[in-house]
Amino acid sequence: MNENILMKLERVTKTYQMGEVRVEALKETSLDIYEGELLVILGPSGSGKSTLLNIVGGMDLPTTGSVYYREMDLAQAGDAQLTRYRRNEVGFVFQYYNLIPDLTARENVELAAGLVDGPLSTDSVLAAVGLGDRMGHFPSQLSGGEQQRVSIARAMVKKPRLLLCDEPTGALDNLTGRMILGLLEAANREQGCTVVIVTHNTSISDMAHRVVRMSSGAAAEIIVNSEPLSPERIEW
Ligand code: ADP
Ligand code: MG
Repeated sequence: MNENILMKLERVTKTYQMGEVRVEALKETSLDIYEGELLVILGPSGSGKSTLLNIVGGMDLPTTGSVYYREMDLAQAGDAQLTRYRRNEVGFVFQYYNLIPDLTARENVELAAGLVDGPLSTDSVLAAVGLGDRMGHFPSQLSGGEQQRVSIARAMVKKPRLLLCDEPTGALDNLTGRMILGLLEAANREQGCTVVIVTHNTSISDMAHRVVRMSSGAAAEIIVNSEPLSPERIEW
């Protein structure tokens, strides 16, 4: 991990107006994300983690504040710029995988590869997540952990600068969850990908370089781990 800032969020807020009710999902949150780090965003349900991650990923815009990716402020970017950013710079991994059910594992990954210039090879990325022999299978023929591995392959085939993961182990048993965390850690360590993992699971923060603790829509605390644990040593 070096100290170059990849993203700089400054006083970001997000307010949802639901009829009479205003929900302040994010309250003036500032955060730097360093190039090449493994960052965990930790907090209870409803604390604003997904809102923050979606803004970082260019899937949602803040109500106020700025979100710099290098020189570009996502908060001020046009639709075409945001689309290019999501497509070329960001890989997303979700709790429930979000695979396309009537495409095979290989086709799901190929679809993502087709969006960018110079993707990795679909087959080698699927082999790297241990699914070399399951490429022709549909999501319904794969276990939850296997589907999550396809979704990691789908994200990584684009060679993203940023890998954003929203509760990636939330639907998995411990053993499978650790395996998934191992793949995310490898993407960080071997590919140099900047990885952000959102979780409500305190144990997962042990593998982070830094932990942002969210509370009621704000980054309440940032903790630096001098000795991150390897995923196979995490207990929960
Ligand atoms: P977390 O991921 O930490 O569980 P979220 O970021 O999903 O939290 O939500 C933070 C708060 O914002 C919650 O109170 C949630 O109900 C609210 N919220 C999130 N998305 C919306 C939305 N699209 N419309 C209205 N309220 C929302
Ligand atoms: Mg969430």
